[in-house]
Amino acid sequence: MKHTLVLSLFLLFFSVILNAQIALSENGKAVGRIVLSTGDSIDLQAAELLQDFIRQISGAELPIITQDHKEIRKTRKNDIIIGNGTLNQDIITEDITEDGFRIVTLSHRVHIVSGGGHGSAYAVVTLLEQYLGVSYWGEKEYSFTPTETIILPNINITENPGFRYRQSQHYALSTDPIYKLWNRLKNPDEVFAANYWVHTFDKLLPSAVYGTDHPEYYSFFNGKRQPGQASQWCLTNPDVLEIVTARLDSIFKANPDKHIISVSQNDGNFTNCQCDQCKAIDDYEEAYSGSLIHFINKLADRFPDKEISTLAYLYTMKPPKHVKPHPNVNIMLCSINSDREVSLTENASGREFVEALEGWSKISDNIFVWDYGINFDNYLVPFPNFHILGDNIRLFKKNNVTMHFSQIAGSRGGDFAEMRTWMVSKLMWNPAADSDSLMQVFLNGYYGDAAPYLYSYHKIMEGALIGSGKRLWIYDSPVSHKEGMLKPALMRRYNALFDRAEEAVSNDSVYLKRIWRSRLPLQYSELDIARTERDMDVNAIEEKLNLFEQRVKMFKVTTLNERLNSPLDYCALYHTRYMPTEEKPLSLGAKVKFLVAPTGKYAEMGKITLTDGLYGGMTFTEGWIGWEGIDGSFTLDLGCQQQFTTITTDFLHQLGAWILQPLNVTYSISDDGENFQEVKSIDNPEDKDSQVKFVEITYVSDKPLKARYIKVDVTGTKICPHWHYGVGHPCWFFIDEVIVK
Ligand SMILES: [Zn+2]
Repeated sequence: MKHTLVLSLFLLFFSVILNAQIALSENGKAVGRIVLSTGDSIDLQAAELLQDFIRQISGAELPIITQDHKEIRKTRKNDIIIGNGTLNQDIITEDITEDGFRIVTLSHRVHIVSGGGHGSAYAVVTLLEQYLGVSYWGEKEYSFTPTETIILPNINITENPGFRYRQSQHYALSTDPIYKLWNRLKNPDEVFAANYWVHTFDKLLPSAVYGTDHPEYYSFFNGKRQPGQASQWCLTNPDVLEIVTARLDSIFKANPDKHIISVSQNDGNFTNCQCDQCKAIDDYEEAYSGSLIHFINKLADRFPDKEISTLAYLYTMKPPKHVKPHPNVNIMLCSINSDREVSLTENASGREFVEALEGWSKISDNIFVWDYGINFDNYLVPFPNFHILGDNIRLFKKNNVTMHFSQIAGSRGGDFAEMRTWMVSKLMWNPAADSDSLMQVFLNGYYGDAAPYLYSYHKIMEGALIGSGKRLWIYDSPVSHKEGMLKPALMRRYNALFDRAEEAVSNDSVYLKRIWRSRLPLQYSELDIARTERDMDVNAIEEKLNLFEQRVKMFKVTTLNERLNSPLDYCALYHTRYMPTEEKPLSLGAKVKFLVAPTGKYAEMGKITLTDGLYGGMTFTEGWIGWEGIDGSFTLDLGCQQQFTTITTDFLHQLGAWILQPLNVTYSISDDGENFQEVKSIDNPEDKDSQVKFVEITYVSDKPLKARYIKVDVTGTKICPHWHYGVGHPCWFFIDEVIVK
C-alpha cells in the first residue's frame, strides 16, 4: 500500500514534468504552432517576432494561426497561444499593468496574456531571451546558439514594468524596430499628443505671434516684459489660460488617441515672470514652481480625462509648499545640476535633487524623472557612471516615479553607447536588477573573450574617478580629468587593457570592430588632453590623429557633442589649431594688464592664459578667459618696440553655455603704455548658429606697425538677446588667446 502510494506520487510527479514540456521544433521541423487569440496588431507582431527567431534558431517555421483560420477554435498540444482573447480566458490578467505580461504553461500549451500596450510582444522577448538564449545587443546585433530541437520547460512568469513609460537614446532606435521593441523603449511621439513632450511654452503661445501686441502674456523681470522664444509666460494672466486651453483642445481633438501633453517652460533659467501677481504666489509657496502648479492645475481641470505634464527643471525644481499638483498633472523632474561620480544620495548636488524628488513625491504620485548619463559637450569621452545607474533608478522607483527618461550619449561612437542603453533599458524594466551583473553579461555577450579586459577597464576607471575626488559633470572636457581618472599613468593602463582586448579577439572581425568603436572615447581623450601639453610628441599625435580619423569614418561617427560638431572637423582643426608651429608669435608670453578685468577667477588666470600660445578647446572649462555681462579691455606688453602687421583675438562661440561673440573689437597701439592710438575698430555680426566654434577677429595692416603695447577693447553683447535661452540675463564672451605677428 505504502509502496504503491510512493510509486503513484512518483509517476504523478514525472508525468507533470513530462506534461509541462512543450516541443516547438524537432530536428529542424516545426512541431508547435503559434495561435493568435485576438486580431490585435501587437499580438500579431509578437507572433511574427517569435516565428522569425525560431526559424533562425532551428530552421523550423512555426505556422501562425490567425483568427480567420478554420482551426482557430481547436488548440493543440505544443501550441503557443498569444493574446487576451477567449482561448486564453482562463488566465488571470487583473494584476498585469500596461506593457506587462504573463507566460504560463497549461495542458501542454504556452499561454501569453498581457496588460495591454506592447505586453504580448515583450513577453515574446522574455521567452526568447530566457528560454531560447537570444540576446539582442545593438543595431541588428544579436546572438543565439542554433539548435534544431526546441523544447520549452514548465513556465509560469509574470512581469510588470518598473516604470509605465521608459525612454532612452540610441542610434538603433531609429534604424532597427526590433531593437526598440527588445529594449521595451518608447518614443515621446507615441505617447505625447502632437509630440509636445518638453519645452512647449513657445510652441503653444508663440512669442512671434503674440509678443508684439501682448507683451503682458510673457515674463516680467529686470523691470520689463520680456516676450521671446526663450522667455516664459505670465502665469497669472487670465488670457494666457484661455488661449492655451483652446490650443490644447484643438491638439487633443486632432490626436484623439493621445492622453497626455506637455505644457512646460522653455529651456533656460530664471526667465520666469516676477510680476506682482506671479511673485505673490511664488513667495507664498516659497518656490518658483508655485505659480506654475497653480496655473497647470487650472489647465488640468479643463481636461479631466487627460494628463498635463509640466517641467520641474532648474528654477522650478523645488516643489511648492502648499499647493498639490492635481492627480492628472504629471511632474517632469530633471536632475540636470547633479554630478554623477557617485549616486544621487551621495554628493551635495545630488542631495539637492533628492530633496526636491522627495518633496514632489509627498504631493504627487505622477512623476516623470529625466535623468542624465551623458556629457553634452563631449559624447566621445569616457563617462563612467555605470556603477550608479541601479541605485539611482531604484531611488526614483521608491519615490513614486512612474515615467523615466534616461538621457545618454546614444549616438554612434558615444561612450559605450551600446552597453549603456542596454543596461538602462534592463534597469527601467526591472529596477531590482544588479548593474554590475548586467555589465558583465553585456561585456561577455558583446565582446566575447575580450570581456575581462574591458571589465577591468571599467572598474579601474570607476575607482580612479571616485578616488580623484573630481566630479563627473555633464559638461566636462577630457581635460577636466587629466589629473584625475585620465592621468597619464591611468591612460597607459587603459590602453594596455584595450590592446589585450583587441588581441584576445584578433581573429574575429565582429568583436574586434566593436572594441575599436568602444575605444574611440579613449583615443579622443588622449588627443584632446595632448593639445594642452607643451611638450607634445608631434609624430605620435599625428599618428593617433590619423587613426582616430580613420576610425570615425569607419564607424560613421557624425557628431562629437550636442551642438553637432563633427569629429572630422575636429581632426582638421587639430592640424591647424593645436599642432605646434615653427613660427612663434610676438605675443607669446607678453605681459597682460587688465583695464576691465575678466569675471571672478578668470582675472588671475587671464594674466597667463591669453598669451600662452595654447588655444582652448570646445568647452569653456579650460584654456578660456571670460567676461560676464560687461565689456573687456586689456593691454599686452611685448617687452620692447616690435614690428608687426597682424593682431588676432580668438573668441569662443558656445550659445548653450551663454557664451556669445562680442559686438566689436578695437585695437590700439602705444609705445609708452599710456597714450594709445586706435588702429582698427571691427564690428562683429550677431551669430545664432548652435554649433560650437572659434571666431578669430583679425586686423591685418597694409604696412608694418611699430609699438611695444597693444590695447584690445571688446564690446560684449552683455545681455542675452530675446532669441537666446538666457533672455534678459548677462551673457559671456570668452577669449583664449591674442596673437600678434
Ligand atoms: Zn506674471
